[in-house]
Amino acid sequence: ADAGPADALITDAAPAAAGGNDVLVELVGVNKHFGDLHVLKDINLSVTRQEVVVVLGPSGSGKSTLCRTINRLESIDSGTIRIDGQELPQEGRELARLRAEVGMVFQSFNLFANKTILDNVTLGPIKVRGVSKPEAEAEAHRLLQRVGVDSQANKFPAQLSGGQQQRVAIARALAMRPKVMLFDEPTSALDPEMVKEVLDVMAELAAEGMTMIIVTHEMGFARQAADRVVFMADGAIVEEAAPDEFFTSPRTERAQDFLSKLI
Ligand code: ADP
Ligand code: MG
Repeated sequence: ADAGPADALITDAAPAAAGGNDVLVELVGVNKHFGDLHVLKDINLSVTRQEVVVVLGPSGSGKSTLCRTINRLESIDSGTIRIDGQELPQEGRELARLRAEVGMVFQSFNLFANKTILDNVTLGPIKVRGVSKPEAEAEAHRLLQRVGVDSQANKFPAQLSGGQQQRVAIARALAMRPKVMLFDEPTSALDPEMVKEVLDVMAELAAEGMTMIIVTHEMGFARQAADRVVFMADGAIVEEAAPDEFFTSPRTERAQDFLSKLI
């Protein structure tokens, strides 16, 4: 593939799959229990290429579990999950390869504390994608520059602010050239003044056409960035709508109740 423009976060534009199927992430009839707790109830969700889906819902509704099942950090009890037409196996080498196609950014930054920022970003590409060290470092510097932290490349995570660490986490995920990015409350652990710098990077990614699934409590961002809002309650998707429609005229009582409790 051609290299993207030097100032882009995404290097490879994701080409449409053979057959022209535009669905990139597909969950069909997904169920998940934790013991007696039915935490995902018959989830059906299709995310198309370049779509930005924001997942909203009260605490405990299953949003994080949904994200974690999409790259098999959690197993599922029944149903199917496909990424770009390929079903995710439960385990094995093939799972590691397919998992690399799903970039994930968590609430806690999850950087390797004993590795430099640069090493955090190059480790995956070198180990999983087989990229040479010089090539991985060049790409890492480019990505770190794009998220505004390249001057910190030789420092360790603890020497950076939370906002900077989260931007490194985004660069690290992008270095794997994922087809889709999952964000699970990426700004919830940040001091308020650092929230915007992370949301700005996410908005830029969306504008470049990255397919994204985002769990967030930042309603202003959700309304602006989302192509679609998915609202979860008690482990089920109870409402899906365009953001303006969802925020101005939610159809279900659960969603109305959720929105009425926001500050
Ligand atoms: P959300 O992200 O929407 O707050 P979660 O997906 O974290 O919701 O959790 C959904 C439900 O599953 C909650 O009731 C939570 O307590 C429960 N849960 C999450 N992870 C586990 C686990 N590893 N073991 C048992 N219960 C869990
Ligand atoms: Mg959660």
